[in-house]
Amino acid sequence: MDFENFFQDALNDLRQEGNYRVFAELERQQGEFPNAKRHVDGNVQDVTVWCSNDYLGMGQHPDVLQAMHNALDKYGAGAGGTRNISGTNHSHILLEKELADLHGKEDALIFTSGYVSNWAALSTLGTKLPNCTIYSDALNHASMIEGMRHSKANRKIWKHNDVEDLDRLLSEAEEGTTKLVAFESVYSMDGDIAPIKEICDVAEKHGAMTYLDEVHAVGLYGPRGGGIAEREGLMDRITVIEGTLGKAFGVMGGYISGSEALCDFVRSFASGFIFTTAIPPSIAAGATASIKYLKNSDKERDYHRNRVETLRNKLDAMGIPHLANPSHIVPVMVNDPVKCKWISDILLDSYGIYVQPINYPTVPKGTERLRFTPSPFHSDSDIDHLVGALSDLWSQCALSRAVA
Ligand SMILES: *Cc1c(COP(=O)(O)O)cnc(C)c1O
Repeated sequence: MDFENFFQDALNDLRQEGNYRVFAELERQQGEFPNAKRHVDGNVQDVTVWCSNDYLGMGQHPDVLQAMHNALDKYGAGAGGTRNISGTNHSHILLEKELADLHGKEDALIFTSGYVSNWAALSTLGTKLPNCTIYSDALNHASMIEGMRHSKANRKIWKHNDVEDLDRLLSEAEEGTTKLVAFESVYSMDGDIAPIKEICDVAEKHGAMTYLDEVHAVGLYGPRGGGIAEREGLMDRITVIEGTLGKAFGVMGGYISGSEALCDFVRSFASGFIFTTAIPPSIAAGATASIKYLKNSDKERDYHRNRVETLRNKLDAMGIPHLANPSHIVPVMVNDPVKCKWISDILLDSYGIYVQPINYPTVPKGTERLRFTPSPFHSDSDIDHLVGALSDLWSQCALSRAVA
C-alpha cells in the first residue's frame, strides 16, 4: 500500500468538495482581545477575531491570569500523573467543589476537555447501565455521539428540540429499559435553546435520567453563570450537567456534575477519566478563578448581551440576514458554500476580520453561514467595521438582503 498517495488522495477529495480546513495562524494578544496577530505567508497581519468561543474574554481576565501565575510558581508545570497515580492535586479538588456549587450538585468530576467529558461519561453510562437506551437529540455534538456509539447502548434519535417526538419514543420503550435522555441547552450552530423544562417533564414521566450539555451556556447564562438550567431554575431536575472550562470560562478542561454516587461511579469506571494525565494545577486554578469571578459579576454577561443586540440591530439596518435566536450566537446566513468561503477569505485578507466559514458537514448543505460571536470586548467601531464590510461584500456577491 502506498500510504502517502492514500493520504494525498483523501485530502484532494476534501479540497474538491470545498471541505478542506485551513486554520488561521493566530497570536492572541493578552489585554488586547479580540485583536490578534495573524501569521500568513511570512507576514504578520492585525486582525479582529469574530468567532472565538472565549465568549467573555475571560482568557485575559486579571484574576484568571494571577491565579495561573501563582499556581505555576507554587506547584510547577504538570499534574504529575493520572488522577489515580499521584496526579490528584489540591487545585483539582477545589475546582470540583467550585463546579458542584455552581450547579447546585453534590459533586463534580473534571476531564481534560469537554469533548472527553461527554465521550467518557456517556460511554460509561451507556455501557454500564442495565438495558440502557439513550435518547439523543438529533443535533447533539460529535463528542456526545461518539460517546454513545462507543457505549454500544441502544440509541434513539429524537427530532431536534421536539418534546412530542421524545415522548413518543420513550413511550415505545420495552419494560425494563434504563432510559437516558441526552441533549444540549444552547446549540452552537443555530444558537437555539432547548425547552429544558418540557424535556424534564417528559423524562420524569417515563422515569428517564437526563444528561444536559451546557457547554455554550456556562458562564454566560443564569445569575451565577450556571447556564440555562440555572436561569430557568431547573438544575435540580437534571441528573447530569456537563460543561467546558474552555469556552466562556476562557481556560481548558471539561466536567460533569451530579450526585456523589454518579460522579464516583464515572470516576471509578470511565477509561477516559482513569487512564490519562490530570490537567495541570495552573489550569485548574485559572478555571476556578474564572468560575468564582463570574459567579459574582454580572457586568460581563450584561454587556455581552448589549453587544449581541447591537450587532443584530446593525445587521438589520443593512438588511444582512441572520438567524433569529434567543442566544449570543449570531449566524449570518450565506446559504452557498463557495460564497461563504469567499466572503470569509476577503473579510480576513482585506478587512482584517476573522470569521471562519461554517460549511457542510458541520451544517446542512444550503445553510452555509458565518457564525459571529460578539464579546464584551468588541467595540462599536469593531461592529461598524464588520457590518460595513459585510454590506460591501453582500453587494459584490449579489446576495439578497433581508427586508426589515
Ligand atoms: C465545544 C463543545 C464541546 C467540547 O468541549 P471542549 O472543552 O472544547 O472539548 C462539547 N459539547 C459542545 C456542544 C461543544 O460545542
